[in-house]
Amino acid sequence: MAKDKVSMELRPNPKSGRYRLISGNWKMNLNHLEAIQTVQKLFFLLKPQDYSYSEISIHPPFTDLRPIQLLIDSDKMRFTLGAQNCHFEPSGAFTGEISAPMLAKLNVSYVIVGHSERRAYFAESDEVVRAKVEAVFRSQMTPIICVGESYQERQDGLTSDRLHSQVDSAVSFLSPELASRCVVAYEPIWAIGKGAAADPKDAQEGASIIRSIFEELWGNSVSSKVRIQYGGSVNPSNAKEFMDLPDIDGLLVGGAALDPDAFARIIQA
Ligand code: PEP
Repeated sequence: MAKDKVSMELRPNPKSGRYRLISGNWKMNLNHLEAIQTVQKLFFLLKPQDYSYSEISIHPPFTDLRPIQLLIDSDKMRFTLGAQNCHFEPSGAFTGEISAPMLAKLNVSYVIVGHSERRAYFAESDEVVRAKVEAVFRSQMTPIICVGESYQERQDGLTSDRLHSQVDSAVSFLSPELASRCVVAYEPIWAIGKGAAADPKDAQEGASIIRSIFEELWGNSVSSKVRIQYGGSVNPSNAKEFMDLPDIDGLLVGGAALDPDAFARIIQA
């Protein structure tokens, strides 16, 4: 049975004025039956006030989107539906692909674009990421643009260069209005799925570099609105440290989002 609709509105962070966003990226895990159970369990673990600090987006595999959309709607759950990827063309002969308009039709609001696993295993270039950002906005959704340096790039002192080239390529063509609506996930590749998250100091440094790129491109009126997530081995014990950082507005959570207990504790942190 659905919980009573909560009157508590989502509140912005009083320090930054930005709305926080915590996103669960399930990757290629959970079939549609497991997905329904997982979302139901998360729903029952969360208390009404848990929804007022952060928007919560869930990014299941494509085959789970329709059942999760129906579940969210029918039980009036305050989760936002997200996807993990899309093709940059709206339709056509691209066997096996899913387009942005198809996702929008399922009430998807956020689409992860340029995740490091897609860049590494599916050869997604900065140009492809840029085309996907455009496609997501064209369908009135919001991209969560993943950027981050490899371990070697960090060792070589190339973190800032890498972030500049990835962010610049993904967003520089946008109008100021669309640029300010972007969500960027700072995901140092060496911290993803490793169980060892970045040091909060490094996460803040990466996020502040990303914000400064928006500032260089459009000035403070845009850079102060862009939301930046941290992603990479977030768990219930380290989530609060990241959420307290001045340039971090949310989290992109992989492994821990598959476990409703852990994900609920991250949201509550
Ligand atoms: C991710 O896949 O975006 C991610 C951050 O994974 P994990 O939390 O498992 O490191």
